[in-house]
Amino acid sequence: MKFLSILEYLYTKACASCSKPVQSHGAFLCPDCYLKLNPRMGPFCIRCGEKIPRGEICGSCLTKPQFYTGISIFEYEGSARKLITSGKYGLKRWVFSSMGDFLADIASIIEWDYIIGVPVTDVAWRKRGFSHTDIVAKRIAANLQRRNRFLDDCFRKRDSQPQAGLTKSERLSLTSAAFIQRKSIPQGRILIIDDVITTGTTLRAFSKALKKAGAQDTAFLTFAKTEHTN
Ligand SMILES: [Zn+2]
Ligand SMILES: [Zn+2]
Repeated sequence: MKFLSILEYLYTKACASCSKPVQSHGAFLCPDCYLKLNPRMGPFCIRCGEKIPRGEICGSCLTKPQFYTGISIFEYEGSARKLITSGKYGLKRWVFSSMGDFLADIASIIEWDYIIGVPVTDVAWRKRGFSHTDIVAKRIAANLQRRNRFLDDCFRKRDSQPQAGLTKSERLSLTSAAFIQRKSIPQGRILIIDDVITTGTTLRAFSKALKKAGAQDTAFLTFAKTEHTN
């Protein structure tokens, strides 16, 4: 076996969606499953990434924007959903490394000073042994030669939010208190990375926690997003 063939053999992985063998070079899906990724179709609000009928900014971002920009690439269905669940529950770190490689180009068009993954809870950390969002964020920073801009281990998500002193509406939605700060963060614009957005409440609460801790502004980039109607 030639040296390159051995390398190829060693680095052949299974498709994160259907488990067929995939050659390396950063691929995490086989060609068939790549075709089953559904890019989200706009127009989108440039601040929060929600689909809007027309224009550039949605009604709620016109009055109270939480992010200076927000981008989610794929619909959370088909291959995108399968690869995220197989990465998280199958404990496959490489799925998230590949996701970071994939997202790096898009992250390069957003202006940011620091990059951070949405924090996971200690329980999730212990169960998986890693923070999948940190893997993605760190890999993006490495791809863009900005390793020193990755904010590591600055926050943890609480397993449950303290209820005392919260109003009824605060109890129904996450607040910045859902996160425990462990280290100080530098001033600047912070790009938040997550694998998927569902309701957006976690991202918004984390953005609030970052701003409370001194961040100048926040943006986000996620691989996928579920569509929901309010
Ligand atoms: Zn596949
Ligand atoms: Zn918006």
